[in-house]
Amino acid sequence: MPDKTNINAALSSQSSALHPNSQRAASEVQQVYLAEAYRLLHYQKGGYISTSALADRVGVSAPAVAAIVQRLKDAGFVDHEPYKGIQLTPKGEREALLNIRRHRLAEVFLVKVMGFGWDECHDEADAIGAVITEKVASRMEAMAGYPKRCPHGEPIPTPDGTMPDIEDQPLSEVAAPADLVVSRVTNHEPEVLQYLASLNLTPERPIKLVHRAPFNGPLRLKIEGQEQVIGHELASGIRVAQG
Ligand SMILES: [Zn+2]
Repeated sequence: MPDKTNINAALSSQSSALHPNSQRAASEVQQVYLAEAYRLLHYQKGGYISTSALADRVGVSAPAVAAIVQRLKDAGFVDHEPYKGIQLTPKGEREALLNIRRHRLAEVFLVKVMGFGWDECHDEADAIGAVITEKVASRMEAMAGYPKRCPHGEPIPTPDGTMPDIEDQPLSEVAAPADLVVSRVTNHEPEVLQYLASLNLTPERPIKLVHRAPFNGPLRLKIEGQEQVIGHELASGIRVAQG
């Protein structure tokens, strides 16, 4: 989730045509919206997203989103169908994927090279990812050892804007018992990430789903030889692959 204060500052700087950075600030904000729209569309597997869902995701008011969406439409990044919602055009999708690439590379760089925690890198990477060039991103990629995934397990798009396919499913939908590997964590709240780390529920970790209570009840896991119990909601934000 991007930092609201950054976005609000960028939004207000746009309103002044005299602001020397207004052009750059506008494109940073646009990038954040395109990337969030891509994430929403990716997890619901295509179709349209509503402006209110996008407003929710970015954390700003509906009128503010409407103004940005209009600008994105004028620039050819999105199609906006009344009563249906927003879809990314090929140009918008490419822009979103390149932003996601810079964001995820910045996350790996912050964690691997600069020693940040996986619970702190997301917001910092939002700020960095919006301003660096592909040249800087590629150097970060090399310095971080050419990672394939971000610290949360999300795949890193290639420099030509292609998103690698990942085969995984939410832990909350897997039948027990099962031997699994944590693929990625889709919740980026720092408190949630700290809690998951305390349970050793982090990407690439082998885990066993021992038992699942019916009616969206708790899940019993075995991680590093220890039994852990987590709730259905937490499990729905953890995606796993067959172990
Ligand atoms: Zn990430």
